[in-house]
Amino acid sequence: MWKGVIETYRRYLPVSDKTPVITMLEGNTPLIEAKNLSKYLCSGRACSALRIFLKYEGLNPTGSFKDRGMTLAISKVKEEGFKAVICASTGNTSASAAAYSARAGLKCIVLIPKGSIALGKLSQALIHGAQVIAVNGNFDQALEVVREITQKYPVAVVNSINPYRIEGQKTASFEICDVLGKAPDFQVMPVGNAGNITAYWKGYKEYRKIGKISRLPKMCGFQASGSAPIVKGHPIKNPHTIATAIKIGNPASWKYAEAARDESGGLIDSVTDKEIISAYKLLASLEGVFAEPASAASIAGLIKLVKRGYFVRRASCVVRRPTIVCILTGHGLKDPDRAIASVRSPAVVEPKLDKVMKVIKI
Ligand SMILES: *Cc1c(COP(=O)(O)O)cnc(C)c1O
Repeated sequence: MWKGVIETYRRYLPVSDKTPVITMLEGNTPLIEAKNLSKYLCSGRACSALRIFLKYEGLNPTGSFKDRGMTLAISKVKEEGFKAVICASTGNTSASAAAYSARAGLKCIVLIPKGSIALGKLSQALIHGAQVIAVNGNFDQALEVVREITQKYPVAVVNSINPYRIEGQKTASFEICDVLGKAPDFQVMPVGNAGNITAYWKGYKEYRKIGKISRLPKMCGFQASGSAPIVKGHPIKNPHTIATAIKIGNPASWKYAEAARDESGGLIDSVTDKEIISAYKLLASLEGVFAEPASAASIAGLIKLVKRGYFVRRASCVVRRPTIVCILTGHGLKDPDRAIASVRSPAVVEPKLDKVMKVIKI
């Protein structure tokens, strides 16, 4: 039986017999082969041999990858004896912190940028009993306040500046390698505060060091073009994008993200909101996989790179089929408003056979 990321990868994590394990059996998310997407993207191109996989992190207990880091962060908070935790959040961190805090019997305080958080995420933080405070500002400003509070008061921060978050999140790369029997050739993922790309890269490097894999993937990160500080090379004061989970203008793990990019020989680029929405719909309609807009930045990035011929050029051996893993960081149901706004609304008809058939047109 699956026992959650701490028990499964205990020997690679900073825990001891004294650590109380707070878990909801997170992790073990499916690595789904995206054959339809691959066929769609590669027809007529020189890349008919791409193998594309989706790491569906939306299937974690609270619907995003944040649970991997939160199980460890909250367990360590318990071990260290704190009574309260705090975080700034674009949504998913607060949902996860609230749920794991509830389980651990901790007070949870959440600072969210007013008006910039998806409905599903807000509902989670509230129902799990977190104290939710909306700040009249953006994520970066909220995180600044959180940093100040934790310097002055006995409250533990559970943002990804907490190193246990990164430690827990690195287990996703272990899972990918365990399933594939090797590292992928490329990994494509969204970049917001840049904790996750940092965590994946750390995980891959650790697995190589102990001989579980022999080669490392190239890390390809994607920011939304309206909030792409790493691509532009400077902080963005007023970041904007419909992908609220990556609406961040000054990433906390900026330097580590650049290290992951440079050490792996990968890249960090941006995709527009238009490209994100189009990838979001394509993924749902071609593969049956519903991921939130920020996650679709992975797919938008994948499409951009395929068009550029990147994978074929960059794969170390062209005859081999390059394996690409796209990280789908959060579930599509987190942001139902966006889904409904992105497609045509249902037809309304009288409850009569002829009326319904007129619309169906078989
Ligand atoms: C948090 C989050 C991200 C961004 O991850 P970072 O570690 O901040 O780069 C992307 N997608 C979703 C769904 C998230 O919740």
